[in-house]
Amino acid sequence: MDPSSSEDETPLAPEIQARVNELMHALQHAPAIACPFTFNWSGNQDLADKASMRIRLYGLLMREMWPAMSFSALSAITFHHDYELALKEAVGSERDAPVPTKEAGGFSVGMMVRAGDGVHVVMHESVALALASDDETTSDWAQSVVRHELCHVADYAFKRELIEKHPDQCRYSGFDTYMAPLAEAMWDEFYANKYSFGPWADVRTFLDLLRDAVAAIHAEVVEAILEYRTSSDLTKLRQIAEPKVKFVAQCFGYAAGCLAGKGVTLEQEAPDVTELLKRLGLLGAWQTCYETLEVLDQRRPNWASVLDLTDLFPGCIELFSGFGLHYRPSGDGAYIDIPETQYTGPLQIAMKRLGLT
Ligand SMILES: [Zn+2]
Repeated sequence: MDPSSSEDETPLAPEIQARVNELMHALQHAPAIACPFTFNWSGNQDLADKASMRIRLYGLLMREMWPAMSFSALSAITFHHDYELALKEAVGSERDAPVPTKEAGGFSVGMMVRAGDGVHVVMHESVALALASDDETTSDWAQSVVRHELCHVADYAFKRELIEKHPDQCRYSGFDTYMAPLAEAMWDEFYANKYSFGPWADVRTFLDLLRDAVAAIHAEVVEAILEYRTSSDLTKLRQIAEPKVKFVAQCFGYAAGCLAGKGVTLEQEAPDVTELLKRLGLLGAWQTCYETLEVLDQRRPNWASVLDLTDLFPGCIELFSGFGLHYRPSGDGAYIDIPETQYTGPLQIAMKRLGLT
């Protein structure tokens, strides 16, 4: 796109013109994002140029704000009308493509995936169309999505460097393997939402997602525990509960990231969500996780290895407990205790037998 071909020819104030020149110079000579863009979509070339220009500009502004952020691991950015197909194509035949979450409210339009030596950001075409839109709410939404994915790219590069430095310290074992998926999901979304925060961010969306996910998943896990009371099939209970509680951990990350970006607590920003977490016995887990995420972020430049994420494990154990599953280390694995609660006691089992729940 030629910067001199602006549609609006009104002269700019000198300091703004200087800033425009500075950015244009950086885009040409020291870009933050230099990877190719692919558009497999219903838009035209003009819109594609506008969308990719915006993304390269966001990259530049983010690097300016946080000089340690690097997007050099990024090998490609793709917009596609068939998002799931594009994810499959990006990861290639050697790996399984990630499947966008089907949990309540977990609608995904963008994802960073590992591909070859680097990472590939895949987004639904609606994000590119929104980026090129003149409507502010629409383009704000797209800006949030793009900045969020760029944060994942920068965090990936940061972790890859740590792994290269300490290759012996990057794998979890034993009991830790039960908590690691939650801690990683929570951290990744916390970081991405905290550092993509700005006037364009829609905090309420993520608080609503947390509220809806917690309410729905609490009911589903209670149901699975009641099943387990009669079947004693722990494997089946784990298969149902663990991915769901992991999604709650991910939602904790999204919400905590927004709140940290804004510099507020959940109690200040969303008394309704606070009340819900309290009622379901999850507020303690939330507080532990939020505080730990902030501390981890403050000392992030000094992380010894990616295993520093084990700091989040006490919060993850508390989160599982809030859903009625008490994990503790046992030998090489975990012992899971499922005590009766107000939701999963004899009365609820009897009611279920009688078809009253
Ligand atoms: Zn994310």
